[in-house]
Amino acid sequence: MNQIIYLDNNATTKVSEGVLNKMLPYLKDEYGNPSSIYSLGTKIKKELNIARENIARLIHADKNNIIFTSCGSESNISAIMSSIRQYPNKKHIITTKVEHASILECMKYLESDGYNITYLNVDKHGRLDLKELEKAITKDTCLISVMMANNEIGNIYPIKDIAKIAHNNNILFHCDAVQAVGKIKIDINELDVDFLSFSGHKINAPKGIGVLYIKDSNNYTPLIFGHQEKNRRGGTENVPYIIGLGKAAEEILNDNYQKEKGIEKLRDYLEEEVKKNIEDIHIYGDKQNRIPNTSSIAFKGVKADALMLVLESFNIYVSTGSACNAEIALPSHVLTACKANLEDYSPIRISLGTYTTKEEIDEFIKRLIGIIKMMRKDIK
Ligand code: PLP
Repeated sequence: MNQIIYLDNNATTKVSEGVLNKMLPYLKDEYGNPSSIYSLGTKIKKELNIARENIARLIHADKNNIIFTSCGSESNISAIMSSIRQYPNKKHIITTKVEHASILECMKYLESDGYNITYLNVDKHGRLDLKELEKAITKDTCLISVMMANNEIGNIYPIKDIAKIAHNNNILFHCDAVQAVGKIKIDINELDVDFLSFSGHKINAPKGIGVLYIKDSNNYTPLIFGHQEKNRRGGTENVPYIIGLGKAAEEILNDNYQKEKGIEKLRDYLEEEVKKNIEDIHIYGDKQNRIPNTSSIAFKGVKADALMLVLESFNIYVSTGSACNAEIALPSHVLTACKANLEDYSPIRISLGTYTTKEEIDEFIKRLIGIIKMMRKDIK
């Protein structure tokens, strides 16, 4: 099989055909600025509104509560910066050890700026202990930021409970939902978060478009000033990408998550087949509470980076951690937080997507069985 088998959808996804076709006119003839008051602009403004509505529906939000940013990372930073500006006298933030680099790097910067950051631990399955969260809260805490789903091991965190704890203590709560939106159903009203971030390129829209849900715009301070997005994010709107993301949202809503159910079955099938056919494996994460597309699997004695390269020679693409960390040869901070035995069990991350087929998974399993046999023989 010479076709590419792409199993790294947590890193990024392919732009859907429908999304691409929807975007193209806005990269060609429909180039008006939505702020212009003549028809070339107002037409675009209308289309942006439709896209905004569809995107808001993805999380059951009101369209007035979402703004567009350049990426998930910008959404995360915008939420954090606005929160700390709202409470300038409070200098304590709580987050976790398993957040995405965009959160952790921002926290590092804030530490250098005098903030005190608590990084919550996880157990060996990557789960949080909410008692530890409650104990960490002080009078000085202004913000809690916890991701909805982990990009490496797929764990889903109890966001509703965490938001409740935050609000009972008059603390703002931000949730990085980049790996959750489009994979699991999200109802923002049930969760009651103050901020929620997500990103286009994880849901078959292009790279370079992000979304931030803001519960209370009155207390929001922008990261980039300007009149767009009702003064909440300056910069002329990225029209083609917003419209593309609107179409991606529509496709997810039309699928009614059926594909997602299919993806979960396919992921479980993959894990079962791997278990049946390969000895001494370990699956990381909380198997009872994971996003449907992710599997982090280690094969005893086989180094994940070597395995990834051998798989690549067969046109199969997986990762050894998050794409953002892949260039730095450091052990994964998520697996380190899980106190994983990475010497013996270093995992590859397999993340399925909307376009992953059973045939591809069967081909992957077939290749994997042979490769692991070969690599283990070489080690002996
Ligand atoms: N948060 C999580 C959990 C992610 O997995 C990613 C991307 O991998 C991001 C944030 C950043 O999103 P973006 O690439 O759009 O900046």
